Amino acid sequence: MLKSNAMGVLAVLLLSVAACRAAEEDNLGFTDTPFLPNSPWRVHDRNRPRPPIVAPGATRGQPPADAVVLFDGKDLSQWEGEQADISAGLEDGCINILKAGELRSKKKFGDCQLHIEWATPPTRDTEKRFWWGNSGIFFLGKYELQVTESHENVHKADGQAGAIYGQTPPLVNVARKPGEWQVYDVIFIAPRFDEDKLIAPAYFTVFWNGVLVQYHTPCMGTTRYKTVPKYDCFDTVGPIKFQQHGSGVRFRNIWVRPLELPAPESR
Ligand code: MG
Repeated sequence: MLKSNAMGVLAVLLLSVAACRAAEEDNLGFTDTPFLPNSPWRVHDRNRPRPPIVAPGATRGQPPADAVVLFDGKDLSQWEGEQADISAGLEDGCINILKAGELRSKKKFGDCQLHIEWATPPTRDTEKRFWWGNSGIFFLGKYELQVTESHENVHKADGQAGAIYGQTPPLVNVARKPGEWQVYDVIFIAPRFDEDKLIAPAYFTVFWNGVLVQYHTPCMGTTRYKTVPKYDCFDTVGPIKFQQHGSGVRFRNIWVRPLELPAPESR
């Protein structure tokens, strides 16, 4: 009786060891599975390099460890502009773009992830209803993701916040009230050129206050007013630019993660 019980325990132990090994194999991957289409890697390939580890920010909105911090509230050393003294725009840990004037990052970026927080003025200048909270974030200094007051203001669809200005309105309007802080998280894919021939346009994916408003939206070219945009520049990297458009829009907590994404399909 005792002997048969011991055999039973041993069998269970052996089975559980085998199950653990199988689970371990499953976790580590395989070397005998089929290859994925157009890929040097097998399904669950054991030898496929693991993604690099990046420490996330300690709290929401804090930059991850591999981000290029363009503004942390302290100074404008990462920026240059049109005015002699852009530091006039430094205000309570924020950038006031009306006081700083147009700003361009000193560093250039191509494909990238951008985090930025922005706030339109709490009250409008009665003479400038349509400029209320108007600014913009230009990738490569050319392609504008619109920033403007869109909670109370009446804007054309392709001029609202979250729009690729003059081209594509946001999927929804998730504007907070004037004066409240709002967030953009953007994946920008730079255009691809073969010398002066466009191979693939730029693309925007944008979360506004955590809501998807642009999904892999192709950009038609350099931002234009009342004309059809086209590509007039063949750069694949450039500065992040903030538009000074007559309104005291504020920015803070700005960081970028440069990316090297696969070239998108041409359209
Ligand atoms: Mg604008």
